[in-house]
Amino acid sequence: MGYKRCPQEGHLMDSSWKYCPICIAPLAGWFVIMNENGVAHRYFTLHEGKTIIGSGKDCEISIPEYGLLRQQAAIIIEGNDCTVVDLSGDNSMKVNNIQTSRNTVMDGDIIEFGGVQFCVKLLKSEGRY
Ligand SMILES: [Zn+2]
Repeated sequence: MGYKRCPQEGHLMDSSWKYCPICIAPLAGWFVIMNENGVAHRYFTLHEGKTIIGSGKDCEISIPEYGLLRQQAAIIIEGNDCTVVDLSGDNSMKVNNIQTSRNTVMDGDIIEFGGVQFCVKLLKSEGRY
């Protein structure tokens, strides 16, 4: 009892909810998993507000297969600003190859945790390039 998963991306929902509150939030971009060759091979949508990334089933972006912590990081999108915050406490996060615990990210930036690279694609950001 209690919970079900949204049909689009598997977000955790109260069983009484008709629509997934994450999926109906305004789309802000995509969180892309890169393979060893730097090629995108899996996408998750990013929405305005806070998105938790980790191996936990309660994360908005739940990725159990890469050895991430239950709550590895958070992406916070407010208007045109996107911030990534390391939740691991072990300083293992890098943004564009530089270790950081909290950083503003722009379209096309590469975030790395646990040896896995992720690319952030943002609709409202102009990007660095
Ligand atoms: Zn959803």
